[in-house]
Amino acid sequence: MSNGLYRPEKRIIGLMGGTFDPVHYGHLVAAEEACYQFGMEKVIFIPASKPPHKTGRDISTSEQRLEMTKRAISSNSHFTISDMEIKREGLSYTIDTVRAMKEIYVGWEIYFITGADAVLEILTWKNVEELLQECFFVAATRPGFNLETIDCKLGYLSKDLLAKIKTVEVPALAISSTDIRQRVREGRPIKYLLPEAVEKFIYQNKLYHN
Ligand code: ATP
Ligand code: MG
Repeated sequence: MSNGLYRPEKRIIGLMGGTFDPVHYGHLVAAEEACYQFGMEKVIFIPASKPPHKTGRDISTSEQRLEMTKRAISSNSHFTISDMEIKREGLSYTIDTVRAMKEIYVGWEIYFITGADAVLEILTWKNVEELLQECFFVAATRPGFNLETIDCKLGYLSKDLLAKIKTVEVPALAISSTDIRQRVREGRPIKYLLPEAVEKFIYQNKLYHN
């Protein structure tokens, strides 16, 4: 620390996966807080192509979700976006994404950022032990979801692996994409729940209107 700047030994990158249909302030606040608290150099938003647990639901096109996410992060120099999952054929799995990112960011430490609801979903889907060998997880608090169940449900894992799941307290935002879509359908306001550029895109492209 000769020049007064704190430099972590390892370079850290955050991955923020999601459907982002649409992206909203809950996503942005969770990513920003995790970025700050763990000293990440950047956070890559990765819209999913066909989330394995959401197939069958009518979601916006990948291009529309990519565009909304681009607009949402444009004012944050730490945030960037990847179309890796959208370009990949078939279903997206976190383990494939993490491994692909490790080939690009060789030697970096990877932190996969999720909300309190998604962390358990991801870690109970598949390859939990392999996943935790590849990267850390950051579970952001989310209203309505209890983070304490993690230790309970994943208690069979070794201490070393459990230690790779971190939590981050974020200012609580009870915002969800599901609620935003429903609000649009019902003609209720979505202003202040998501960036204005995303709101405009939704109305211009008549998304979620039935
Ligand atoms: P949907 O209602 O369609 O499931 P969502 O609002 O949950 O949408 P996703 O795209 O499913 O958004 O979420 C992507 C990631 O962001 C997940 O890890 C999720 O837990 C997290 N997340 C979403 N909303 C919030 C929020 N308000 N606070 C903290 N984390 C959030
Ligand atoms: Mg969700």
